[in-house]
Amino acid sequence: PNASLVIANWKMNGNRELTKTMSVALREKLSQLQKVKIVVCPPFTLISELASQCYYDDIAIGAQNVSEHASGAYTGETSTTQLQEFGVSYVLVGHSERRQLFAETDDKVNEKALATVNAGMTAVICVGENKAQRDEGNTWKVVAEQAKAALANLPKEKAGKVVLAYEPVWAIGTGETASPEQAQDVHAKLRTLLVEQFGAIGEKMPLLYGGSVKADNAAELFAQKDIDGGLIGGASLKESDFVAICQAAQ
Ligand code: 13P
Repeated sequence: PNASLVIANWKMNGNRELTKTMSVALREKLSQLQKVKIVVCPPFTLISELASQCYYDDIAIGAQNVSEHASGAYTGETSTTQLQEFGVSYVLVGHSERRQLFAETDDKVNEKALATVNAGMTAVICVGENKAQRDEGNTWKVVAEQAKAALANLPKEKAGKVVLAYEPVWAIGTGETASPEQAQDVHAKLRTLLVEQFGAIGEKMPLLYGGSVKADNAAELFAQKDIDGGLIGGASLKESDFVAICQAAQ
């Protein structure tokens, strides 16, 4: 396949109607994509319904956030155990919107990643530079710092539960996609970083690209050597777009 993993991040969008539309589309059009794993991350309120409608091997349910704490007086938070009870097996960790709008620090992202993998779920750790940082030539410095901090203390035996998603902030929701070459350049460096930390298995750990992935640019992004899939925002809310992106991965 061109890519092995496509993740939909609905962000704070969608309703029960969309879970119905999407689960039908996934069943009818995508359940036969044998080599592509599809993960949908709806808002918390829709997880239960989506999970009960999507019970196919190649489709998994993800959460957009998780608490780093196991339980207790943390109003508004949701624990790993609570997510798992509803069939969640992936968690987005450190999305740039969480970092920017909800003050998630590198340390907190690391704690959430550890909590996620220690619970047996897969952490999809998001990293990416903003426009000013790219313009100043600091793209790799910023991305490497975020990735190293997020991956700190993650043991080799958890490598199979870690996915890295490169999402340049300037490309998120802007319609301005990183070129396949720009994305591949960062991905190749992230690959080296993964191999340094995890050894040979780092060669196989999924590296996703996110940021204005659309039906018409997915194939050329997925064709890059170190782009193993996509993290899809806006285009994951439209059935035909999301289906086309998943098909481009096959
Ligand atoms: P868009 O696909 O809407 O640019 O969002 C990307 C993203 O942030 C996915 O997590």
